[in-house]
This record gives sequence, C-alpha cells and structure tokens, in this order.
Amino acid sequence: MNYIESADDGQRDPVTGLPTRYEFLQSLKQAATAAERSGDHVALLVLDVNDFQNINLTAGHATGDLVLREVAQVLRGELREIDTIGRLGDDEFAIILPSMMNIDHAILAVHKVLGQFDYPISLSGQSIDVRVSIGIAMYPDISGDDEQLLSHATMAMMRAKKAQTGFEIFEEISSGSGVAGPRYEGELRRVIEDGGLMLHYQAKQDLKLERITGVEALVRWPDPAGGFRPPDQFIPVAERSDLIHKLTSWVLNTALRQCAEWERRSLPLKVAVNLSTRSLKDHDLPDVISHALETWRVNPKRLTLEVTETAMMEEREYIVDVLRRLSDIGVTLSIDDFGSGYSSLQYLRILPVHELKIDKSFVMAMEQNQSDENIVRTVIELGRNFGLKITAEGVETERALELLKELGCDMGQGYFIHRPSDVATLEQRINELH
Ligand code: C2E
Ligand code: MG
Ligand code: MG
Repeated sequence: MNYIESADDGQRDPVTGLPTRYEFLQSLKQAATAAERSGDHVALLVLDVNDFQNINLTAGHATGDLVLREVAQVLRGELREIDTIGRLGDDEFAIILPSMMNIDHAILAVHKVLGQFDYPISLSGQSIDVRVSIGIAMYPDISGDDEQLLSHATMAMMRAKKAQTGFEIFEEISSGSGVAGPRYEGELRRVIEDGGLMLHYQAKQDLKLERITGVEALVRWPDPAGGFRPPDQFIPVAERSDLIHKLTSWVLNTALRQCAEWERRSLPLKVAVNLSTRSLKDHDLPDVISHALETWRVNPKRLTLEVTETAMMEEREYIVDVLRRLSDIGVTLSIDDFGSGYSSLQYLRILPVHELKIDKSFVMAMEQNQSDENIVRTVIELGRNFGLKITAEGVETERALELLKELGCDMGQGYFIHRPSDVATLEQRINELH
C-alpha cells in the first residue's frame, strides 16, 4: 500500500504512521494527473470519526489516540494495495482510490469500511462505539479541478455526519437530489420490498426478578460485503420518504409473529418495537397496530412501542392524540433515549406513557462520572414519583448492573446482559441466564 512506499520521507503522522496532509495532497495531485492520462476515475474519500471530541472527553486522550490508530488499522485492512491513506488532521482521514470504473466501486469500498464499525471496538478494556462519516467525490468531477476535490469530499462528509447516513456522494448533493441521494434510497426500497431486512432482538432483564421478561426488536440491513448497515444510518433515509411506513409495518409484523411463536412455546416475552417520528405523525398508525395485533393474535399487553423524546416534543397536540389512541389499545408506551433531548416534566405528566428508557450515554458513563450517576438516580426517582417503569439501556458491565439494582431500577438492557442477536442466539442466552 502507498503509505508504506512513502514511509521514509519524514512526513508521517506519529499517532497513526500515515502520511500527513501535505504529503497526501501531493499524492492526490499525482493520482489526478495519472487519471487524466489513462482516462480513469479516481475517488477521493474524506472520513471523520463521529463525536470524537466526546470520546476524548469521556475516555481520555490516550484512548482517543488508540481510536485513531484503530481507524487507520481498519482502513489498511479493508483497502487495496494501490489506495493511499492519509491523516488530514484531528480525527479526519482521507483516502485516494485510483482506477475506479465508476462510483459503484467506490461505494463498495465505503460499505466495507463502514461495516467494520458496526460493533463497538474493545480498547484497553473499554468497549467504545466508534462511528464514522464518509464523503465521496469523483475525479474528474463537475469542476474538473483536483484542488476542489478535497473540499467537495469534505462537504459530502459533513452532510453525511449531519444526516447520520454513513456516507454521501458529492455529485448527488450538487444535483439537488436530497441528502442521502436516490441511489441509497433505491437500494433501501429494494431490500425492503425483496424481504432482505432482518430483525435482531436484545434481551431486557427484570432486575428484581432477575429474569429476561422482554426483548427489543432492532432492524438490520445485511451488507453484501459482510456485516450490517446500522439502523442509525438508514432509518433517517427511510424517514425522508414513505419507505418508513413499509419498514415499520414489516418490523411490527415480524416482531409480533415472533412474539406469538414464543407464546406458543410457553416463552412469554414482551416485544418492544421502535417507532420513528414520522410514523408517530401517521394518523393511521393506531389502526395499523390494532390490525397487526389481531393478525398475530397477540395480547396488546405484550407489545411495547418505543418513541424518542424528541419525537414526542414535535407537534405536541397531534402526537398526544395519537399516543392516547395507542394507549387505549392497551399497548405499553415507552420514551426512548430519555435525557438525551430536552424534556419537559410538565409535559411528561400529561403524556399517556408507561415507561422511560434512560439514555445509554448516562448509564455507560455512570461508573466513571458522579454527575451521570446522579442523572440515572434522578430519573429512577422521577419514574417512581410518576408511576413509570424505568429501563436502563447501555448496561455494559457487572458493576453497572449491580448499581442499577441498588438504585431500584426496574429493567436493564445492554451488552453485559445480551448483545442484539438472531432468535437462536437470544434463546440460548436466556437459557444460560435462567
Ligand atoms: P435504540 O432504540 O435506543 O436502541 C438501542 C441501541 O443501543 C441499539 O443500537 C443497540 O444495539 C445499542 N445498545 C444496546 N445495548 C448497548 C450497550 O450496552 N452499549 C452500547 N454501546 N450500545 C448498546 P442499534 O441496533 O444500532 O439501533 C440504533 C437505533 O436505531 C435504535 O436506538 C433505534 O432508535 C433505531 N432503530 C433500530 N431498529 C429500528 C426499527 O425497527 N424502527 C425504527 N424506527 N428505528 C429503529
Ligand atoms: Mg429503542
Ligand atoms: Mg435508546
């Protein structure tokens, strides 16, 4: 790979061993000139680590450096010998992919890289969720200028970061075709219509009974290059079109069919399904839910609907009405990622909700940070006062689990108990725990 060839001219980044900005730009110029001669395309990727500041703040700068080294390692592992990788600064990397037939080849490389960040990485005993955003620009591009290329790829990366789509392509942004681009949306439509999505389930443990009494259904998009595309990336894409209705309906029906199957096998588990903001604004949602419950003959008490805090704050009156109709059906309503948005306690009083899920960021940090522990403690007390069940998500260690029990938390969910998995692995884990 080119980073080895250029190893001895002194322009190396001490943390990752990669070429630094100046040296990388020289390589980019050469690649552009070579492409001009051969008539080939070159793809330029700019990659940035999401929330890197936060990793530095919560896990420390030494761990931050390890994360950067790990990212460099992933790039080396996933890319070809002829590709050039560089570190532009802070948490920003750039990659030159020469000899690209078309944009699809660049997208394939991007999927391979993104797939490596689907699961948290383990660094010096800590499990860290590392997500990256990538911008793609092709040379020759509309401006025909290799110096513009870097700013185009950077702009695309910034859009990807903002929209949490994983990656964006500059040409599609410039053609005004929407944030994620029609290609990604088309792929998503195909996978939904072809039945290519999967559901994983994550166990929810009753901390008083010390038993798994429920699961959360989490949608997965299998990537042909291996791994899964994370829902955080494609749900926002689905939300921008009517695809979200198809997706929600598929998740709901698949989860309820599974719930009915468990019930038949005397494994009575509650199933939680996530609803996106857009679904919540759909006036037909209560009917869709009633219909699905009837189809699979599932008692509404077995179904929990998780809605994020922010979703509940938008168009309040309208949403309160939909929530009331859902609550009347007899399903459990849960506020997901509680504490991460801005919630009004006043509003909490009038919402027909039954459960609060404490955002995982507080639970994951509470062992190191007293103020996070205080937030967890306060939400548990709040739940007690309002008669709401409290679930803590992001339980990654035994100590966190014990602390939550001491604080009187009702339910726990997290990697320490069970990582989201297929049904067979989940059932195996339940057997181990019971
Ligand atoms: P969420 O509903 O808050 O789901 C919990 C997320 O936290 C899941 O990520 C899960 O894998 C992760 N998680 C669970 N335990 C731990 C832990 O101990 N440590 C850490 N670091 N992470 C943990 P996932 O599956 O990537 O889902 C992300 C988000 O995507 C979900 O957040 C939810 O908002 C959305 N989502 C997932 N499935 C669906 C779906 O079917 N429909 C809709 N509308 N949204 C979905
Ligand atoms: Mg959830
Ligand atoms: Mg959550």
